[in-house]
Amino acid sequence: MIYNKVCPICHTEFIATNIRKKYCCYKCASKSYKTTYRKAHELEIKKRKKDWYEKNKDEVIKKVILYTHKNRHKINKRMKDRFEFDADFKLSTILRHRVYVAIKMQYGIKAKKTMDLIGCTVE
Ligand SMILES: [Zn+2]
Repeated sequence: MIYNKVCPICHTEFIATNIRKKYCCYKCASKSYKTTYRKAHELEIKKRKKDWYEKNKDEVIKKVILYTHKNRHKINKRMKDRFEFDADFKLSTILRHRVYVAIKMQYGIKAKKTMDLIGCTVE
């Protein structure tokens, strides 16, 4: 049998060969599953992720350090590009550096994040 249906995600008409088929394509189906499931289990997922991180913290940190050592050039290039094209990033980087230098001149240690110290946001 062939059924004419409308996809609830992208609202296009499509022909279903199976009455149980709800979505036009795999993309829409996975999108729907992700959004509905994640909304319903938001806290549970958050807790599970946090627990996993706490359990594997040492390993994760080791991997991140290894990755940064191996891919220094890649990371530097990405940062440089972002600095050039992302105005917000550029502004916050310059601000952060200026505050860091000002505090270091007086042998201080930053107690809070730069944006908390200044009391404003980049946006
Ligand atoms: Zn669709």
